[in-house]
Amino acid sequence: MGLKTVGPRLHAAGPRVRVPPKVVDPHYQSDDHKAWRAAVIRRAAGRCQGPGCGKTGVRLFADHIRELVDGGAPFDLANGQALCGTCHTIKTARARKARQQGG
Ligand SMILES: [Zn+2]
Repeated sequence: MGLKTVGPRLHAAGPRVRVPPKVVDPHYQSDDHKAWRAAVIRRAAGRCQGPGCGKTGVRLFADHIRELVDGGAPFDLANGQALCGTCHTIKTARARKARQQGG
């Protein structure tokens, strides 16, 4: 049994390999969402709104303070905040944990 198989790079010069499209919740592609996201980012004026963060000059993500899965309002600016990647990751992990604990 030779398990040292190395995949031959047959596609290097061939037709593009078709990658199945990532399944994205249509909500995040809607114009309403895009407008909300743009408004949240604009309002933040380039500054992360994460607690104690305030980072500038970083990529910001429009985040739902109360996540949609938890019943948050999807297009309410009051339910939006701009977070840097770090804050967004922390916040998402926390929300998930809270959901698991709180039911
Ligand atoms: Zn931050």
